[in-house]
Amino acid sequence: MAKANMSLTKVAMPEQEAQVRNKNYQEVALGYTAGMAIEEAQRCLNCKNSPCIAGCPVNVRIPEFITLVAEGSFLEAAALVKSTNSLPAICGRVCPQETQCEELCVRKKKGEPVAIGRLERFVADYAMTQGGEQMEKTPANGHKVAIIGSGPAGLTCAGDLAKLGYEVTVFEALHTPGGVLVYGIPEFRLPKALVREEIASVEAMGVEIIPNMVIGKSLTLDELLEEEGFEAVFVGSGAGLPKFQKIPGENLNGVYSANEFLTRINLMKAYNFPHNNTPVRVGASAAIVGGGNVAMDAARCAKRMGAETVYIVYRRSEVEMPARVEEVHHAKEEGIIFKILTNPTQIFGDANGYVRAMECVEMELGEPDDSGRRRPVVKKGSEHIIDVETVVISIGNSPNPLIKDTTPGLDTESWGGIIADEETGQTSHKAVFAGGDTVTGAATVILAMGAGKKAATAIDEYIRLSTEIHNY
Ligand code: FAD
Ligand code: SF4
Repeated sequence: MAKANMSLTKVAMPEQEAQVRNKNYQEVALGYTAGMAIEEAQRCLNCKNSPCIAGCPVNVRIPEFITLVAEGSFLEAAALVKSTNSLPAICGRVCPQETQCEELCVRKKKGEPVAIGRLERFVADYAMTQGGEQMEKTPANGHKVAIIGSGPAGLTCAGDLAKLGYEVTVFEALHTPGGVLVYGIPEFRLPKALVREEIASVEAMGVEIIPNMVIGKSLTLDELLEEEGFEAVFVGSGAGLPKFQKIPGENLNGVYSANEFLTRINLMKAYNFPHNNTPVRVGASAAIVGGGNVAMDAARCAKRMGAETVYIVYRRSEVEMPARVEEVHHAKEEGIIFKILTNPTQIFGDANGYVRAMECVEMELGEPDDSGRRRPVVKKGSEHIIDVETVVISIGNSPNPLIKDTTPGLDTESWGGIIADEETGQTSHKAVFAGGDTVTGAATVILAMGAGKKAATAIDEYIRLSTEIHNY
């Protein structure tokens, strides 16, 4: 390997200029060139104990793939990443590396960590430009597994089972597969063409995806198991049920859940209305209530839809914001106004029932609450009104109760999450496994993938045991 590059900072990521990109939907970060990737890869020390690997929920063999990048062996590097991560172009873009692999990188002790995520993205994109990896179908083992939901949890579980020879069918409620990757995360952060390519590579392994099929309505889990010949089911149905503030005025026209707002814009292409059928009304100013990645995405979409003034209204302080630091930084660069330590109390409408303003109060931080974060308390006499035409509520989601309500014997938490074993994903209904946001509540792409992976291994063991097959 070439001599290590001891620069304390990452090779900078080329980006679209903020005042240009806040008017278009093209990707913000443009990706490394081959030269940049090699230069950044040379910052890796190839540490013997590889602490970075432990920080990755799917244990990508990080130093090995980075060594291959440093040598210019990009396709080999991509194949190595793909051996443990079936969606690397996606993870390279949206994983919170700063709290996972990069958090543990030895180079972080003095300077910035190695840009592991950017290198993962580079090798995945490079492999796609070279025609991608040719996936070979594993000979069928004669056993069928059903997957509910085609988000990262379902797709990962499906891909891993297909590699083991299972006949895998994914049932997806929406008309397009991908889950939050297509209906939530905007094009400017995660181009949909790329998600389609990664889904195509899962299909190339023999996985069948059936869209427009709502399990719990069209068919129940028990019908899949008892009448359709599936020996096990993996539920990766996400957490798509939005929470609201429960304040007066939330039923006015112009108040959206972040889910609806983003689905209209991303999946239904409201930015292209009337060429596409679905409209979205944003107006001159919008307030997004919340401080997570979802809120940042909604705010940046509102700006791109033409709103001159876009506020993030968040009740805690900025250090407590759950959004990735990079996303907060990008949002600020694009002109989003942060009203932190602020909470909405009421939304006002005009004579026609459309939003015209929102009342807020200022907050101060009190004693720590159950989450360990200091509890925000209302500052007396701080009521004030902001003029807005749109309000997007982005304060979290819980799982849709449909599957729970139609599956006797499936234990769930009081907030709706399916109870599943952490290591195997097995639920109280022995042939049913679950993972991703439907178990944890809203979390991350890589954690959902990790859960899908563990469940695939456990489903394989479960089917082997229950059918006593030995000739795999
Ligand atoms: P989902 O991706 O939600 O997929 C579930 C799928 O199941 C959906 O397609 C749904 O239609 C389908 N489904 C539901 N019910 C049924 C049913 N009854 N029958 C059939 N199909 C059904 N994470 C990150 O790591 N980084 C980020 O930057 C990031 N940004 C985000 C931005 C937004 C706007 C949102 C909403 C989330 C973001 N997340 C991010 C979180 C991440 O996307 C989720 O944690 C992840 O997608 C969860 O994966 P999943 O497979 O469990 O569920
Ligand atoms: Fe390379 Fe950092 Fe991992 Fe060490 S910890 S092997 S420097 S990426």
